[in-house]
Amino acid sequence: MKVYLIGAGPGDAGLLTLKGRDALACADVVVYDALANDSLLGHARPDAERIYVGKVAGNHALPQHEINALLVRLARQGKRTVRLKGGDCYLFGRGGEECEYLKAHGVPFRVLPGVTSALAAPAFAGIPVTHRDFCSSVHIVTAHARAGKSLCIDFEALVRTGGTLVFLMGLTALRQVTDGLTAAGMPPDMPAAVIENGARGTQRKVVSTVGELADAAEKAGVHSPALIVVGRVCALIGTL
Ligand code: SAH
Repeated sequence: MKVYLIGAGPGDAGLLTLKGRDALACADVVVYDALANDSLLGHARPDAERIYVGKVAGNHALPQHEINALLVRLARQGKRTVRLKGGDCYLFGRGGEECEYLKAHGVPFRVLPGVTSALAAPAFAGIPVTHRDFCSSVHIVTAHARAGKSLCIDFEALVRTGGTLVFLMGLTALRQVTDGLTAAGMPPDMPAAVIENGARGTQRKVVSTVGELADAAEKAGVHSPALIVVGRVCALIGTL
């Protein structure tokens, strides 16, 4: 049976795609993450099995290799399987690894893209990630280091682009990110923001400059999920 990888969007139940909703409605089993809004599960049949594999306090409820094996097992049991992932399935969600594994095990799959938090959270916070007057590119970067490794980000290259920078998984490394940018030549008064629970009813934003963002976010007690936006477009917050 086929596995459907569905991007659940950033957490607002209305930001699931129609194709995603239809696939959910046909599922025998839904394997879902913490970032996939629980209310989306309401689109599945009441008798559909629901399996939570998300993270709890930084630990995977189920390690990635076990998630991969679970998907193969469910599909081989003849169950129409939906893998519901936060945001878009292929943006930093290890969706690529899941598909590689399915392919290697001969399980057919289909990917239904979702609305990524990297674009939706800034939009809901009033930040157009590009604007002709300010920049001509946007760069989405992970600020998460692999276990035991330090951040591997070419800050000089990012600063040189002059584009908007969106960092995901960067809350714990926020100060390393902002220090890295200023050390690479970004002016400390560059507008910047942290967006918590973006595109959800509980969204909060901290608007500052790259030089002061880490202190401001700490003072505001920002929690995960949150992302960092850096660039002149952040100055448009509150103007549109
Ligand atoms: N595939 C997801 C991203 C997975 S990485 C997507 O396309 O959105 C997980 C990171 O995404 C989090 O650490 C956080 O930085 C960001 N994130 C996900 N949902 C978010 C939200 N609603 N608000 C702010 N950041 C979010």
